[in-house]
Amino acid sequence: MPDKLTDLIAELALANRILAHEGVLDAFGHVSVRHPTDPGRYLLSRARSPLLIEPDDILEYTLDSAPVKPPKVHLYAERVIHGCIYQARDDVMAICHHHAPAVMPFCIAGKPIDPVFHLGATMGEHVPFWDQYDEFGDTNLLVVKPEEGQSLARALGNHSVVLMNRHGATVVGSGLKELVSRSIFICQNAEYQLRALALGSATPLHRGEIKLAGTISLMPNVVTRTWEYWSMRLQASGAMPPRRPAKSHRKSRKTRRGR
Ligand SMILES: [Zn+2]
Repeated sequence: MPDKLTDLIAELALANRILAHEGVLDAFGHVSVRHPTDPGRYLLSRARSPLLIEPDDILEYTLDSAPVKPPKVHLYAERVIHGCIYQARDDVMAICHHHAPAVMPFCIAGKPIDPVFHLGATMGEHVPFWDQYDEFGDTNLLVVKPEEGQSLARALGNHSVVLMNRHGATVVGSGLKELVSRSIFICQNAEYQLRALALGSATPLHRGEIKLAGTISLMPNVVTRTWEYWSMRLQASGAMPPRRPAKSHRKSRKTRRGR
């Protein structure tokens, strides 16, 4: 019988590596997914660069962002982003926080990212901004306090992505495959928008186009196709995560060594 949790943990490790390989995440940034059977918990790696994450790094957290089993490893300082959004949005099943070079000019200039091509429609009609300084004054710009995470979740509202001034972006999805597609398409859109502006103008999609193109671009068959494509690119680079050995397998190896 397939183990839902084990499969999702493997998928989360893969999502981290795909997003790192495609330039959304670098040494920083993180991806989480809501627990498959307990909506009051979520899964997130220990503090580690996303390209290196393995299934064994994945930990379980309550929505207050406390680890269920306190580990002896470092945790992401910004994990409240995940817990606070899961608390605020029942429909959100996966979250990515990143500082991708593609979106940073918009976060710094305070200029909106608009959907300018069909796949960019996956961001939705409007992308709100959140400026940590407005509510919290001088900080190190990391979102570490529950009240900061709650403020960010309020700014996100019912949207799919929120841009964080002078910091990065936080993207949400109804599952890991949708999240990965949306995160990558928003970065592509930001790059295209900037290049088009250099040519003179970047005309956004019309409201009806955003709805139609956004819906079709996130259909299960589409996000499965893109997931396979990005997985194959990751595999070709030799950076696929190891599959976590089954517990029974580990035990038998230990026993063998003991003999
Ligand atoms: Zn950050």
